[in-house]
This record gives sequence, structure tokens and C-alpha cells, in this order.
Amino acid sequence: MEETGTVQKRVAAEIDLDRLMQNAEWLKKKLAPHTAFAAVVKADGYGHGAVPIARELDPLADWYCVATAEEALNLRSHAIGKPILILGPVPEEQYEALIQAEVRMPVFTAEEAEAMGRQAEKVGKKALAHLAVDTGMNRIGIKPSPEVVSTAKRMAESCGLLLEGAFTHLYRADERTLSSARRQCLLFQHFLEELKRRGIQPEWCHVANSAAIMRGIGTDFHMVRAGIAMYGIAPSREMEGETLPLSPVMSLRSRVSYVKEIEAGEEISYGGIFRSEHSMRVATVSAGYADGYPRSLSNCGQVLIAGRRARILGRICMDQMMVDVSDNPEAKRGSAVTLLGQDGSEAITLEELSQRSGRFPYEFVCDISRRVPRVYFRKGVQVGTKDWFQDRYDSIR
Ligand SMILES: *Cc1c(COP(=O)(O)O)cnc(C)c1O
Repeated sequence: MEETGTVQKRVAAEIDLDRLMQNAEWLKKKLAPHTAFAAVVKADGYGHGAVPIARELDPLADWYCVATAEEALNLRSHAIGKPILILGPVPEEQYEALIQAEVRMPVFTAEEAEAMGRQAEKVGKKALAHLAVDTGMNRIGIKPSPEVVSTAKRMAESCGLLLEGAFTHLYRADERTLSSARRQCLLFQHFLEELKRRGIQPEWCHVANSAAIMRGIGTDFHMVRAGIAMYGIAPSREMEGETLPLSPVMSLRSRVSYVKEIEAGEEISYGGIFRSEHSMRVATVSAGYADGYPRSLSNCGQVLIAGRRARILGRICMDQMMVDVSDNPEAKRGSAVTLLGQDGSEAITLEELSQRSGRFPYEFVCDISRRVPRVYFRKGVQVGTKDWFQDRYDSIR
């Protein structure tokens, strides 16, 4: 692939589908042979575009996981037919549509199970549910206890509901010390054994997120749920060294819209927080915080132009920013600007951006705004785009 300049847009997120597949393949190699691979594509595929990502992963993914009912139904409406599991709590109003679409829901209270069962009888299909088990995160799920085993048994036996799975979530698998993650796994394992003694054996038991897969924790259950690492991003700073075989899927590129010379003593951008000490050559770049580029990089971030670093000067604006190209004669109107990704031998990594901006890497990709089209590449060739420019409304004028 030509590393820059392939996209003529004001700003675009380039998505490398080959890297996505390589990352997923590498993660799959860490699994026990019988373990299924669920691709987590919540939050629009961590900002990469859930539908194209899910389609591309079709040869590798056995399941998909999302966070909300809308995300699940969106995949279905785009002909994604494999099992889909929602990871977050689902409001009762959405049960009917989800049961119809055979979307799996988490369940962790007797009331939810009853309501799902009732709705299922109305629809005439089983409600497919995965028991959420809280092994320490205190987010969702039932806490393992003898009474809870009875609750689970009632759920498993309730009409209309099929307790197809059970899962827990590891909240410290990305740290240096793995004692907490190991303890969670053991708690979950013991709970499953309790269930088994009472005659309940969910078909799909799963615990591992990306960090756990990479560390070989929980990779021999029925399934794993891989998110961030598929996108080529380290789950935490502690794990940056362990992500070497992964390659980042998203690059963010913009353009130089204007180049000018300024004198010593001139200010740049809102608040005048940058004042030049000598004459400089300054480029204006067509991207800003409304594109999801963090304003906290004002006066401290860097971008790449023609394979060289350029400092951001002054405040980042909503739609534009200025950078120093004094020592970069190749920078001119129309030059590609790499905000994230590779340009020649230089690269701006998500780790660098996260450290400089204080924004968590997961958050960074999720926050690339809908104003930024996603452009998909396979073998360096542009194969599609996603944008949100159709501004459609329901009922309001
Ligand atoms: C988001 C999420 C995952 C995926 O986590 P990654 O760290 O992105 O791999 C897995 N399981 C649950 C319950 C989640 O919410």
C-alpha cells in the first residue's frame, strides 16, 4: 500500500483489513482447539465500523459480541447471521425484537429471566440467554453463592428461556500481576461445577478478553471474547511489549489546506498560547477536536508530513489545527498528514497519542467522530467506505 496520500478526503480513518485478519489469526492460535472465537464489535467495532469488520472476520469468527440491542439488530439488518451476544444489560422493551432475531442476551436476575421467558412464549421462539456471573468486577452479574445456584436452576428450567451460556469478565487481566484474573477464573470454574452438580451445563462458558487470551488465561473454556487486540491495540500500557506481533488496523489521515510564513512574535490559534520566537513556516491541517482528535494535544502533539514529524502549534480548533513545517520544505497545500499511523519510516502510535493526550487507547478509537469517514483497504487497494452523512430523522421535521 502507498502509505499516505491514498485518500483525498479532508480527514479519514483508514482501516487495514489484512491487518485485522492477521491479528485475529494470531489471537486464534492462542486458543485450545475446541475453543470458539467471538469477535467483539461493540461501539461500532471500536470505531472501525462494526459491519465491515464483522463481514471481514466472517471466515474466522464463530460469534460476535456487542454492547447494546441496537448494535445487535444493526448487524442482523446487514445480514450477519452468526450468533450474536449482547454483553450489557438489555431493557425489557427490547426483548421481543432480540428474541425474534435470535440475539443472545445476558441474564442475571430472576425477574429478567421471567420477563424473557414470558416474551419468548408470546413470540413463539426461545429466548437465548447467557448467565452473567460477577466474580469481582461488581459491574453486572450474579455473585456465586449456594442460593444463587438455586436461582440459576430456576432460570434454566423456566419456560421459554434457554440458558445457553454463562460468562464472567476479567477486570485485571491486563496488569503485570495476574493473581486477580486467576482468582476470578477459579471462582467461575467452581461456580460452573456447582451448576453442573445441579444438572445445569450451559453450552457456552466464556471468560477471556484480549488481555486474557494473550496471557493464556481462560483460553480453554468454550469461547473467548476478543476486542481491542484484534484492532492491533495493546490492552494496557503494561502489555505494550506483548503486542509486538499485532499491527494497528486504524490510521488517521488528513491534509494540509494552507501553508504560510509567520514572523517572530506572532501568535497562533485561540488564546495565543503559542507565540513564535523566530520566523516560521506554518501549515494548517484540516482536522480538529470535532473529528475526535484530542484537544489536549494542543501545543504538545505531533503529526507526520512527508515522513517527518511536525509539532502542533497552539490550540487545536474544532475543525483545524496548525503545525510547524519550518524544516519540512516538502510540506505543501494538499500534502497528506498522518495523525495516527505510519508515514515512511516514522510512525505515530496510539500509545504515543494516549500518553501525550491522557486519553485511554480504547477511548481514542471509539471517539473518532462520525464526521470522519472510514475507508477500507485490502492489499493496499481501497475496497469500500463508511460514512454517516445521511442525516435521517424519525418523526421530527
Ligand atoms: C468489551 C468486552 C470484551 C472485550 O474486551 P477487550 O479488552 O477489548 O478484548 C470482552 N468481554 C466483555 C464483557 C466486554 O465488555
